[in-house]
Amino acid sequence: MSRKRHIDPPAASIDPEDSREVAPAERSGEQAWQAALRPQSFDQYIGQRDLIDNLKVSVRAARENGWALDHFLFAGPPGLGKTTLAHVIANEMGVNLHVSSGPAIDHKGMLASLLTSLGEGDALFIDEIHRLAPVVEENLYPAMEDFRFDLFIGEGPHAKAVTMQLPRFTLLGATTRMGLLSAPLLDRFGFCWQLRYYEQADMIAIVKRSAALTKVTIDQDGAVEIARRSRGTPRIANRLLRRVRDFAAVERDGVIDGDIAASSLDRLAVDHAGLDMLDRAYLSVICERFDGGPVGIEAVAASLSEERGTLEEVVEPFLLQVGLIARTPRGRVATAAGYQHMGLAAPSKAPSGGQGPQGRLF
Ligand code: ADP
Repeated sequence: MSRKRHIDPPAASIDPEDSREVAPAERSGEQAWQAALRPQSFDQYIGQRDLIDNLKVSVRAARENGWALDHFLFAGPPGLGKTTLAHVIANEMGVNLHVSSGPAIDHKGMLASLLTSLGEGDALFIDEIHRLAPVVEENLYPAMEDFRFDLFIGEGPHAKAVTMQLPRFTLLGATTRMGLLSAPLLDRFGFCWQLRYYEQADMIAIVKRSAALTKVTIDQDGAVEIARRSRGTPRIANRLLRRVRDFAAVERDGVIDGDIAASSLDRLAVDHAGLDMLDRAYLSVICERFDGGPVGIEAVAASLSEERGTLEEVVEPFLLQVGLIARTPRGRVATAAGYQHMGLAAPSKAPSGGQGPQGRLF
């Protein structure tokens, strides 16, 4: 297949991760920076090797046999590379990628126009697929299964059902909340994968790659420092690299070493484990206001005047991963490692927190 490729611009969507640390006026610059750094092929995609190996097999089988690729679902916190994977897969397949998101497809007609604009073999990326309206989701099922779309023309007793045949396409779904997806939708994906936070070695490679692409000079210590404070998340690494580059340009003739990286990130209120002000405020509320928990997410959200969804999708997954908090049937609790991170003495009831923040990510 060697048709001319195009990539539709993404429909408007809200990414809670995007709303952190980035002033609105700067957003377009930040987005352009992230997009310029987006890997375009399997070889450029760093980390997540088991996933990439699986995808390589599927793409190769589809290409060599002229099959349409199966529908794939990628889950995981914001910034781990789900959108990037959709671009990489479309590139590797040599097909067009159409980009949209759950909230943007707000009625059946919108879904119909999206599906009928697809060409044979094209890929359709739906970000935040857990936010599709139920009526839209129900109409997606026959499209995914049988490549057909049922329309009703006219109203009342004279309405006529018309079935439209769609081209064979590949749906690439992304979600930060796999648990919110309905079973019928999950069943229709041939492959669902939970992306993991990146290991330190992969994060260092990502920082170095991004620095090289943007012609920023960085030494090993500088890359290690930025990688360590990026919460195992490539998007955060790219964002912090950009901020540190500014400090290095003003204070150190442009070269990023370990010292300038550490001092810039301290000034940006990103601590040695990568926690920012919101993460620390969250931990502090649980430790100090709620006596270490258990406490319900609604109470924490109200105390912080923050959206529950932001805490669940952006803050908690990482704090859980590194063992600073734990989830119990009665709510969230701060672990001994969580207290220690905040410089507080842990009460004896605090759970240990497993591997803690000095675990495999750091
Ligand atoms: P998500 O869709 O999961 O929120 P994105 O795919 O938008 O995350 O990734 C954010 C940015 O991080 C991308 O623009 C890209 O520059 C970078 N990135 C993501 N995954 C990788 C990776 N595996 N290797 C290198 N850079 C990556």
